[in-house]
Amino acid sequence: MTAPTALGSVIARDRGLLWHPYAPLRGSLPYEVVGAEGPRLHLVGDDGVRRSVVDAMSSWWSVVHGYRHPALDAAARAQLDRFSHAMFGGLTHAPAVELGERLVAMTPSGLEHVFFADSGSVSVEVAMKVALQYQAAANHPERQRFLTIRGGYHGDTFAAMSVCDPVDGMHSAFPGVLARQVFADRPPLARSADEVRGLTRDTSDAVRRWAASVKNVAFQHGSACAAIIVEPVLQGAGGMRPYPADCLRVLREVADEHGMLLVHDEIATGFGRTGTLFGSDWAGEDARPDILCVGKALTGGYMTLAAMLCTGAVAETIERSQFGAVLHGPTFMANPLACTVAAASLDLLIERGWQRDVARLERGLANLHEAQSLSSVDHVRVLGGVGVIQLREPVDVVAVTRAALERGAWVRPFRNLVYTMPPYVSTDDDLRTTCAAMIGAVAEVHG
Ligand SMILES: *Cc1c(COP(=O)(O)O)cnc(C)c1O
Repeated sequence: MTAPTALGSVIARDRGLLWHPYAPLRGSLPYEVVGAEGPRLHLVGDDGVRRSVVDAMSSWWSVVHGYRHPALDAAARAQLDRFSHAMFGGLTHAPAVELGERLVAMTPSGLEHVFFADSGSVSVEVAMKVALQYQAAANHPERQRFLTIRGGYHGDTFAAMSVCDPVDGMHSAFPGVLARQVFADRPPLARSADEVRGLTRDTSDAVRRWAASVKNVAFQHGSACAAIIVEPVLQGAGGMRPYPADCLRVLREVADEHGMLLVHDEIATGFGRTGTLFGSDWAGEDARPDILCVGKALTGGYMTLAAMLCTGAVAETIERSQFGAVLHGPTFMANPLACTVAAASLDLLIERGWQRDVARLERGLANLHEAQSLSSVDHVRVLGGVGVIQLREPVDVVAVTRAALERGAWVRPFRNLVYTMPPYVSTDDDLRTTCAAMIGAVAEVHG
């Protein structure tokens, strides 16, 4: 417990000064983070009470190894003692090269070249530019649009926003500026790993119907599109919604048939979260993308960094074009501190055995199925390190957040979803706390 200091408190000073994501300046009061360790956040509320809680969000899916990990702290410190930043125009450094080599080695085969960007959204912008530049270089400058599926989320910058879900995304706020993209139906929902694998009859029928509708959309608009862009196997911020891996095979086929590239946005699904190292891996070699984006967990949540990877064929076509280069170059491109920590985080992922960790999360999160008996609950789904309670009505975010905190877990629900993506270092006890907090909070607030 710390004494409340109302006037001077960080929470009071924040109010009206700082914007928070998608929130009014004087929206609901934030909690103050005063420390963090392993899977736990130390939070102070406006009541002045200090609580140590399990971070069920991994700070928006990024802090996979937990806070203040000794190996990541040491990597950051060592690089601080060398140099923390240097421009990437005309210069290079070991942290960038070592991270690039690791990414090429671990991502699906065929991806050979790396462009470092400073956030996930920017890596999506770069992926879209690369697709457009590729098509122009391949004598298809008329291919100016993108085909995607409803229910997606690809970031908050303008090109990325244009391929987010047209209803739930921000299209209505910027109607005059957003590019008009081509939207196919949402793929069918997969409620479990077996349904993602397509092992049930219902799923394969649903996939066939969906495939027919996608093929129809591609038949009408495919020749105007540079690429298909999707989040493989799990639509994240668009609804925490897994879908069958066969849909990825369909999209690969459709892309090839209509001369489009295939972009996999793995910013949320990369690095083990869904139970395979990348979402693409669920569909194996049959669905390999031409372009792939990673971000979020790339640095273990230490700082912002993302990357776009592409195949040799895509890169070579751009090299032969009028411009001869990818037309992008952020000031903080390949920031050495971020690259160093990212390389250490990827090493840790492999040393710790991400597969065992994520399988353990999946078993622990199975407890969420108990929520199925609540009258407010529509359904519960678990895939890898992702657990979702979907309500029949929009979540009372403030009340559910508070009720979950009182039960020991930090959650950040949205729309009708109370979900968790726990750090991979969460213990079985932490997972029990998280599940009990989510179920208890939903029961208390929504019944
Ligand atoms: C979070 C996210 C982004 C945007 O990344 P930022 O780092 O927030 O810009 C893009 N695509 C997907 C799938 C994401 O989950």
